[in-house]
Amino acid sequence: MRLDPVLDRIDADLEAATERLLRLLRIPSISTDPAHRADCRAAAEWLAEDLRSIGFADARLRDTPGQPMVTGRMGDTGPRLLFYGHYDVQPADPLELWKTPPFEPSVEDTPEGKVIRGRGASDDKGQLMTFVEACRAWVTVHGALPARVSILFEGEEESGSPSLVPFLRDHAEELRADLALICDTGLFDRDTPAITTMLRGLVGEEIVITGPDRDLHSGAYGGPAVNPIKVLARIIAALHDDHGRVTLPGFYDGVPEITPELRAQWEGLGFDEDDFLGGVGLSHPAGEADRTALEMIWARPTCEVNGIAGGYAGAGFKTVLPSQASAKISFRLVGRQDPAQIREAFRAHVQSMLPPDCTVEFHGHGAAPASVMSTDAPAFETARRALGPEWPKPAAFVGAGGSIPIAGYFKTELGTDSMLLGFANNDDLIHSPNEKYDLRSFHKGIRSWARVLAALAETG
Ligand SMILES: [Zn+2]
Repeated sequence: MRLDPVLDRIDADLEAATERLLRLLRIPSISTDPAHRADCRAAAEWLAEDLRSIGFADARLRDTPGQPMVTGRMGDTGPRLLFYGHYDVQPADPLELWKTPPFEPSVEDTPEGKVIRGRGASDDKGQLMTFVEACRAWVTVHGALPARVSILFEGEEESGSPSLVPFLRDHAEELRADLALICDTGLFDRDTPAITTMLRGLVGEEIVITGPDRDLHSGAYGGPAVNPIKVLARIIAALHDDHGRVTLPGFYDGVPEITPELRAQWEGLGFDEDDFLGGVGLSHPAGEADRTALEMIWARPTCEVNGIAGGYAGAGFKTVLPSQASAKISFRLVGRQDPAQIREAFRAHVQSMLPPDCTVEFHGHGAAPASVMSTDAPAFETARRALGPEWPKPAAFVGAGGSIPIAGYFKTELGTDSMLLGFANNDDLIHSPNEKYDLRSFHKGIRSWARVLAALAETG
């Protein structure tokens, strides 16, 4: 089955594809807000109907305790591919900051070209439709898809995916695939597509240190009475050494060095550290002394203090010696670092620095290991090659600083590896007022999936 007529069809159909996306964007499917429950269902119904119109004959809603999933399958030859996207969106407030109403999307002319503005335009309705439109073009031209494709659209991604793991577990047989394709990430830059291959994990810990059994006057008790804020400050300061490395014993166990090939590829991306820091008013890199910023975000574990509280922080001044001090601390994990072991090492560190008369309470917040896709699996190189003719620059294998748990769930629940290929831009304002998606990325995204489907089908 030839690719060229499929690409031509996509070009000819772009206006209609844009119209379809606008229709989906008009449905305010905000998953976190119970008032929009019917809207979430309506978005799911719209997608199932659209999939059926393409030829995913069994496309339908699958009820969960939360928002419904949409599934559908098509094709009986070629590799089994599972495509994932989410139809729910973030709340739109503050509404007064939107130039146009968030759920009345329109195509806007800007100096950078045409953009579609509206909540979900990029994250993730615009992106999931890139795949749907690629399938539509294949079927329109050839009457069939080049691979066996299963679709899974989720409606709870923006509210923590509570139903996802149980759903995967209950339908593992049905959903298992040779490869999962996840479309919810971004381009590296306007001209460089990105295949995300490293996702960091996360461990969150909250500690509350208690000293005296009540707040005290610092004149009357300061000195003899232990101050929990000072204890907390010492504990936090001791988490890093002078070179920015985390001091917890065993912390770097399971942290791989990136390969020379990957290092070379990253150097070729032209990432500008000064711009990156300058963009947030900084000029001197912190963190591990011998690592680049890109490496620290994508491929190195980190420890950050996210919040700290204790004593009097209101207006004016109060000479209090507080009874308690607390902090929220998180670790980003890479490679095979074990979240449970890191939590344990952190707690042992805190206990070991606790003076007599102080007690500590620990509250664990989330734990997820990192996931690293095996880029030596042929599918990754195949996809990278397939994207070549579509974009001005070759696709990059990149890491993701944030945590995207879905790929990990596909692995643990289905045994299926994932490839994360997304077409969002860094300035799409996702989760913010005035979210937008440019038509160029939408168009190229559709063409990219058409190419990737063809290439994956060919290699079987
Ligand atoms: Zn998303």
